[in-house]
Amino acid sequence: MAKVVVLGAGIAGHTAAMIAKKKLGKAHDVIVVSPNSNYQWIPSSIWVGVGLMKPEQVYFKLAPVYTKMGIVHKQAAAVAIHPEGDATSAKPYVKVRYVDKEKSGQEENVEYDYLINATGPKLNFAATEGLGPDKFTNSVCSYDHAAHAWENLQKSLEKMEKGEKQTFLIGTGHPMATCQGAAFEYALNIAFEIDKRKLHDFAEIWWISNEYELGDFGLGGAYVKRNGYVTPTKIFTESIFKEYGIRWIKRAGVTKVEQGVAHYEDLDGNKLSKAFDFAMLIPGFAGAGMKAYDKAGEDITAKVFAPNGMMKVDADYTPKPYEQWSAIDWPSIYQSPLYDNVYAAGIAFAPPHDISKPYTNPNGLTIVPTPPRTGMPSGVIGKIVAENIAHRIKTGSKDHPHRASMARMGAACIVSAGYGIRKGQAAVMTVSPIVPDWDTYPKWGRNINDTVGEVGLAGHWMKLFMHYMFIYKAKGKFGWNLIPE
Ligand SMILES: Cc1cc2nc3c(=O)[nH]c(=O)nc-3n(C[C@H](O)[C@H](O)[C@H](O)COP(=O)(O)OP(=O)(O)OC[C@H]3O[C@@H](n4cnc5c(N)ncnc54)[C@H](O)[C@@H]3O)c2cc1C
Repeated sequence: MAKVVVLGAGIAGHTAAMIAKKKLGKAHDVIVVSPNSNYQWIPSSIWVGVGLMKPEQVYFKLAPVYTKMGIVHKQAAAVAIHPEGDATSAKPYVKVRYVDKEKSGQEENVEYDYLINATGPKLNFAATEGLGPDKFTNSVCSYDHAAHAWENLQKSLEKMEKGEKQTFLIGTGHPMATCQGAAFEYALNIAFEIDKRKLHDFAEIWWISNEYELGDFGLGGAYVKRNGYVTPTKIFTESIFKEYGIRWIKRAGVTKVEQGVAHYEDLDGNKLSKAFDFAMLIPGFAGAGMKAYDKAGEDITAKVFAPNGMMKVDADYTPKPYEQWSAIDWPSIYQSPLYDNVYAAGIAFAPPHDISKPYTNPNGLTIVPTPPRTGMPSGVIGKIVAENIAHRIKTGSKDHPHRASMARMGAACIVSAGYGIRKGQAAVMTVSPIVPDWDTYPKWGRNINDTVGEVGLAGHWMKLFMHYMFIYKAKGKFGWNLIPE
């Protein structure tokens, strides 16, 4: 009997656990270690953040789903991996610390034959002084953060209803933050809700971002087909912001936030500030902060993980100038180069390089959006990692028949831009591949026939449909495995 241990029950980990159990059946164990007792569909947090969904609509309890599927769940956080075992254990294991009511604080060594690290991002608010929901800015990165943001947003809406002007600042709160898409979506939803309440005369909405040009999204921007024309995402995004009355500050690295004011540097090294009444700024992302030790107990964290705490996999991490990176540097099976039974899926794997060109200002501050790994690739990677592990367990071979390089796969992103069955809007963007491949597609970097951008009501319906469909799938209901990632 083999033991597959999955760290994290987000889009990548939950997908991996369900697929592994389906493929391996009762003959093998699948164990999920995750500190949150709930599964959350993070993309719909945006709607929680503008009061259009209750937090309970975007999460559900994992326990009944795992019980039904025969998956063991430990409500704990992984703190260290011992991929060679140690003097007391011949088998590799992961040290976990429980957070549930009964065992809170207790530690356990969970042995594994195969380990999938799918711990997602640590929301690194601490990397920017004054950032975060317990300091001076809001967040929509989880359902509880989003619910808190909605409470604060209502206060601003109430002030505007009384005739008081409010400034909203939405964007990235760290010079190297990613996930611009989520902030973009929140900015559009705020603008839509303000407009719906006929309060636009009292609102100034600002976008602040580390992107060199709008529409970069950490993907180095894209050329998209729109109404039959090829348009850069810069124009696509600027025209949407114009339509929604949102002004912007780009090439900005936010370094510090105080009550009602964000401090940032630009690429010329100027130190500037922007005042706000309500701010939602995405933090920098880091790995979960796990340690790694060899058999003798030596700390090998720096060998297993990149400096940002994300796990090194089968990518080419050789330092090279930005211009020399290529699509083939990106991983395809997400296996640790040191331990062949250890994998990292979703945001937990360390990308080999920036997709967007990094710029450093005269003060030495690098301002660049780091590469995003959105829901679709996270789910696909979780799936192929589980399929390869099941293949290895069942056949005893070391092959990896399933591959999913972000430089080969496409992704769709639907950015909600207003909620309502008849008046809703969304911007739909598909890119193929996610990481541009200038060797294969020298003209546009991507396959222009599959790289599309459109805005309309249909996109809103799709986004709403995806909310219900992906929650249905994640609950493991009838036919879940037929629904694509
Ligand atoms: C507001 C917002 C909106 C978004 N909208 C979209 C969208 O519309 N479309 C899209 O494609 N993507 C969207 N994304 C991105 C998407 O949510 C992520 O790509 C996706 O969640 C990444 O999956 P993951 O499994 O790697 O990480 P997560 O989903 O974050 O899961 C990580 C898991 O690891 C667990 N964990 C953390 N630390 C530990 C530990 N030490 N030990 C064990 N477990 C641990 C967590 O509890 C969690 O269960 C959005 C993101 C945000 C923040």
